[in-house]
Amino acid sequence: MSALTQKNARKEENDFPLPCYLLPWFYANKRDLPWRRNKDAYAVWVSEIMLQQTRVEAAKEHYVRFMRALPTVFDLAACDEEKLMKLWEGLGYYSRARNMKKCADRVVAEYGGIFPRDKALLQQLPGIGEYTAGAVSSIAYDEKNPAVDGNVLRVCARAEGDFTPVDNVRRRRELTKKLAAVYPEAAGDYTQSLMELGALVCLPESPKCGACPLRGHCVAEREGWQSRLPVMPEKPQKKRERLAVFLLRAPQGTALRKRPAKGVLAGMWEFPNQPFAGFSAAEKEAEGAFLRTSLLDLGIENFTLCFKKEHTHVFTHLVWEMTAYVLDIPDMPPSLPVFSPEKIRGELSVASAFRWCLELL
Ligand code: SF4
Repeated sequence: MSALTQKNARKEENDFPLPCYLLPWFYANKRDLPWRRNKDAYAVWVSEIMLQQTRVEAAKEHYVRFMRALPTVFDLAACDEEKLMKLWEGLGYYSRARNMKKCADRVVAEYGGIFPRDKALLQQLPGIGEYTAGAVSSIAYDEKNPAVDGNVLRVCARAEGDFTPVDNVRRRRELTKKLAAVYPEAAGDYTQSLMELGALVCLPESPKCGACPLRGHCVAEREGWQSRLPVMPEKPQKKRERLAVFLLRAPQGTALRKRPAKGVLAGMWEFPNQPFAGFSAAEKEAEGAFLRTSLLDLGIENFTLCFKKEHTHVFTHLVWEMTAYVLDIPDMPPSLPVFSPEKIRGELSVASAFRWCLELL
């Protein structure tokens, strides 16, 4: 028997995050989060999509703002894209927001504005995968459908002493089945108790085993394997790109343009930019020539370089090393859409990777 099989073979029936351990703890310790005040499927779905984008603390503010602006699925279906992108600003992955709109359209057209409770039907809607379908159907409708995310995988890997890498599809499938078999009537509470335990107690770096309701029923705690579990997949190297960004300040305002409809930050507003190799402090002349050529391409002959600033923006699979050139120009060429800094800040959905530039205007 291999070492890995031996380790996984140490699981016992009891070494599982059963509802009888978790629910009492959840009722006594759950956080008062805005989306927990409303079990409406639309509200649950909005919160789940946001929580896939950002941490709970950051999601709270976005959620309240979003639900105030679009309180029902009908409001979202009727919302225009610019307003939706503005509401989504800061959350990244704007394609998710567009999928939400498509999903709302279908829920209104096909289900009269009521999300289906059946997991398989939910999974047929745009942007809803197995996890989100499990979360919505269990939290909103108390259907016995697990929602296995990173938190749940971590808790279960530790509780069971399971050394299978967390990205293993079979492990996720088997765990989903195993959890479904122990789901109680209070299905939504059980789903949330697993997530809550991962968020508050069974933390990635330093789990608080002393305060855990699974203490005494957890293999990792018993064997001292907390730091070895869960087994994470190797992260691929992120691709790095360098970008020169032009902040053009003219009497009429500042130039922005729309990104292409497909690809990174599709359809969002950005400041004019282009890939470049970057310049060292000794390459002043080459940098000046680069600026002159790039600005001529934009239709600008005269400019004053006021200052420049570096910034790194990290996406999931990509890193942009950006240099913003802040330039005063006497007149904006007609080919560039121009806006006042107030309009840019208040009304337009500027891609998150470029939002740091707003401070430089
Ligand atoms: S916090 Fe500790 S006892 Fe609780 S599940 Fe995680 S590793 Fe086990």
